[in-house]
Amino acid sequence: NIGDPRPQIRQLDEAAINRIAAGEVVERPASAVKELVENAIDAGARRIDVAYGDGGKTLIRVTDDGCGIAPDDLPLALARHATSKMDGSDLLAIHTFGFRGEALASLGAVGRLTLASRAAGEDAAEMNVTGGAASAVKPAALNGGTVVTLRDLFHATPARLKFMRTDRAEAQAIGDVVKRLAMAEPFVGFTLRDVSGGGAGRTVFRADPESGDLFDAMSARLARIMGREFTDNAIRIDAARDGLGMTGFAGLPTYSRGSALAQYLFVNGRPVRDRMLTGALRAAYRDLLSRDRHPAAALFIECDTALVDVNVHPAKSEVRFRDPGAARGLIVSGLRHALAEEGHRASGTVAD
Ligand code: ADP
Ligand code: MG
Repeated sequence: NIGDPRPQIRQLDEAAINRIAAGEVVERPASAVKELVENAIDAGARRIDVAYGDGGKTLIRVTDDGCGIAPDDLPLALARHATSKMDGSDLLAIHTFGFRGEALASLGAVGRLTLASRAAGEDAAEMNVTGGAASAVKPAALNGGTVVTLRDLFHATPARLKFMRTDRAEAQAIGDVVKRLAMAEPFVGFTLRDVSGGGAGRTVFRADPESGDLFDAMSARLARIMGREFTDNAIRIDAARDGLGMTGFAGLPTYSRGSALAQYLFVNGRPVRDRMLTGALRAAYRDLLSRDRHPAAALFIECDTALVDVNVHPAKSEVRFRDPGAARGLIVSGLRHALAEEGHRASGTVAD
């Protein structure tokens, strides 16, 4: 208002900056779980256990058997914009899930975080962060790997707390995140436990590490998560075009669903939700399904990291292809071709 003193421009302190940045990375418990499980995968874990209490609102704990963090590196792991996964030189050539070095700092800004870890040949150590303030490095008891515990998410930001949904809905979202990542990593074992009541809790989901070659492992994992009915009623996809590749399973038109929930898309091993890609999937089945039916599919698109930008959003579930037409073309033509072949094969069988 006229007459009011001119507002002063102030530099925000580190805690405020982290809280704002955290809002972009951590929207809800499931986004915290996603960041922590991705870190475990990046650390080369073979087993990852996720436990949550009260839909993840009071407790999220991710335990892995990956490479661990040396005591001296713990403060860096918790600092913003500190990462072991890139050197800043090539934003496009990213092969790991993480690379912003933001997740742990953000989680420490919006919850009470404990990071306990042990790297090979090092002592086990841990650090706590609450409201962005970190403790000293302390000795811990741990045989190897990393345990991240996040308590009371958003305890200091009541506005965000209010936006959380019921425990059941948040738990559902956590399950969805863990299952998508488990589909992308068939050689890694996952357990998901609801420990709301304390103790060992209730196992919500479990997938032991799959064996065999990649395709065998992938189909076993998909059968476990999407149901054997899906893999029994789907055709194997293996297509390539314009430098892009696509493998996976596409449901037969007779196995269509009433919703698009059974559609899982991955780009270079990352679960993505992308309108362009789901639109292409719909287009591939256009002549085979009525408007209200949706195909089930799990498709893994692979391409040179230079052809796709995964750096679009902090939550990183969107991607931007350098040539979106090529990606769409791969899906539409690859699926139509496979479905048509299957149609011929099936009608041939009938004629026999
Ligand atoms: P980013 O994953 O983008 O690098 P994070 O804040 O998620 O950023 O993690 C920061 C760093 O901490 C990582 O680069 C990695 O070196 C280390 N780190 C985090 N989680 C783990 C883990 N589970 N096992 C081993 N190292 C980890
Ligand atoms: Mg990370």
